[in-house]
Amino acid sequence: MSVQKTLSLIKPDAVAKNVTGSINSRFEQAGLKIVAQKRLHLTRSQAENFYKVHSDKAFYESLCEFMSSGPIIAQVLSGEDAVAKNRTIMGATNPANADIGTIRRDFGESIEHNAVHGSDSVENAAIEIAFFFSGLEIVE
Ligand code: UDP
Ligand code: MG
Repeated sequence: MSVQKTLSLIKPDAVAKNVTGSINSRFEQAGLKIVAQKRLHLTRSQAENFYKVHSDKAFYESLCEFMSSGPIIAQVLSGEDAVAKNRTIMGATNPANADIGTIRRDFGESIEHNAVHGSDSVENAAIEIAFFFSGLEIVE
């Protein structure tokens, strides 16, 4: 284990429900620190670029439409084992399968509208953080 950074997105469904503070509390309760954060509204083309690893999937078009449908919160979480820890706090992709007490179980609506994104590896975290933030915007 080591101190890591991971990219988190609070998706348009959760921002629209005005639960960003409740979600941030989950991160902080788990010992993760929000070391960068901003609110933005992705264009369709920015969403397509961010999710390009999924461009061959049946859900890609719908996902990109959703992710550009309203404001999101992009954030960098820092802490011990942050990548895996955030995935645990988030819960399974489909809120219906997510453990009780996870963010997706409590705030997600569907497999697509599932409240949050979190990087799935340290390597992808570095790529995803650089997509949204410059070094100057990340303050430990
Ligand atoms: N997604 C979807 N349908 C699916 C699988 C995924 O709409 O069958 C969406 C969902 O919003 C998910 C995102 O695509 O969070 C990225 O999928 P991934 O498999 O990477 O899941 P995650 O890493 O977010 O749990
Ligand atoms: Mg993923």
